[in-house]
Amino acid sequence: MKAHDGLFIDGAWRPATGTGTIEVTNPADGSLLATVPAGGPEDVDAAVRAARAALPGWSATPPARRAARLEALQRILSARGEEIAGTVTAELGSPLTLSRKVHAAAPVAVCGSYARLAAEYSFEERIGNSRVLREPVGVVGAITPWNYPLHQIVAKAAPALAAGCTMVLKPAEDTPLVAQLFAEAVAEAGVPAGVFNLVTGLGPVAGQALAGHEGIDLLSFTGSTAVGRRVGALAAGGVKRVALELGGKSANVILPGADLARAVKAGVANVMSNSGQTCSAWTRMLVDAERYDEAVRLAAEAVARYVPGDPARESTRLGPLVNAEQRERVLGYIRRGQEEGARLVAGGTEPPEGLEGGHYVRPTVFADVTPAMTIAQEEIFGPVLSVLAYRDTEEALRIANGTVYGLAGAVWSDDEEEAVAFARRMETGQVDINGGRFNPLAPFGGYKQSGIGRELGPHGLEEYLQTKSLQF
Ligand code: NAD
Repeated sequence: MKAHDGLFIDGAWRPATGTGTIEVTNPADGSLLATVPAGGPEDVDAAVRAARAALPGWSATPPARRAARLEALQRILSARGEEIAGTVTAELGSPLTLSRKVHAAAPVAVCGSYARLAAEYSFEERIGNSRVLREPVGVVGAITPWNYPLHQIVAKAAPALAAGCTMVLKPAEDTPLVAQLFAEAVAEAGVPAGVFNLVTGLGPVAGQALAGHEGIDLLSFTGSTAVGRRVGALAAGGVKRVALELGGKSANVILPGADLARAVKAGVANVMSNSGQTCSAWTRMLVDAERYDEAVRLAAEAVARYVPGDPARESTRLGPLVNAEQRERVLGYIRRGQEEGARLVAGGTEPPEGLEGGHYVRPTVFADVTPAMTIAQEEIFGPVLSVLAYRDTEEALRIANGTVYGLAGAVWSDDEEEAVAFARRMETGQVDINGGRFNPLAPFGGYKQSGIGRELGPHGLEEYLQTKSLQF
């Protein structure tokens, strides 16, 4: 595949200072797609300096003109949608239909929402005898994961640019190609040199150099809780603002009156989407004891429709995992589930037939899962659903809230008020009621160890602003 052999710094593709490279492979068959440079601390330093130099000009650019650049970026991302979808399918392994519908389309919607917000947002307000100014935080260091590779970049870059910040992005090692494509789009959209910089590289090298860099004002990180904890501490030690979007173990609570067939089907689809590599996936399905057996039967039936296959084929609904390490991790959790006494009702550790060359895992459902089991507590990040039983809604709430995470969740009921009342008591940043639909303006982020701060919409914009008050 086409790839740049440089880093995008100060408006141009430049060679990295070192000679290190990253091999980008196709998870469906292990073949080599491209090689990109692995930037080092000196490259990060050059990128941060470029972002710092561009800050006075970009932050003083009127919001309406920043909005015009975001609109242009939205148009370009939309026009290059097929290329984006193909790139994400190649480097992540997500089925082409999902790459089109989500990986390529969501960033277009998010860019559009920030073009509008930049134009409409009140960057000043009066409070009594004060004028409160909302000013850009400054230079942003952004570190992103591979699972929604473009969406996670845009969820940081669009509000940062709308706010008047400049930035340096260190994308995930597995998915640098769509990040390069994004840098091209930013340049094509007429965003001035130095406002957006891209340093591909290894997490512990380039990522760490960025998180600990003196020259950034905000570190915005999306990834695992383990790494987030470390990089957050590093940035906070330099008294930098920190935003963390981390892992999850979300509960899908099916209340006794809910339409069971609909809720189970949607719950299975949610977990199997993107091969379960979704931070907000509803990986714990909670069903009342009376309808438990029926729910397990419906889940096994629903999961049979997710036959693993080549993600480049239009008909495929379940692709491979992103790499061999992730597959081993997920298989380890499946083994652990069996050892701890959960009942395997679908899937398992056997590789799917005929797909041995790729990082495939069978769609897996566990029944008789109890809240203390490892598979009910830890983020698996694979196509693995655990079904748990509860006796009454108080117990359902205790189980739902009984992990260190608090990213997302779902509640199903025939009485919307009952569902909302339950959702209010969930310790989590967002809850889908009877299915829910993606809203690019709604805040997204975690309670508890799922993170700090919010992305998307006006709340996401405010992460990139700091306030100054003038008293009269
Ligand atoms: P990861 O934490 O391994 O890597 C994330 C990013 O951090 C990558 O760019 C990586 O190169 C970098 N990194 C790794 N070590 C680093 C270090 N020592 N210093 C600085 N940077 C470092 O996570 P991942 O495996 O890429 O992604 C999966 C995780 O991301 C899951 O836990 C998932 O739940 C989480 N996630 C959260 C959200 C959210 O919005 N809350 C969204 C998507 C994914």
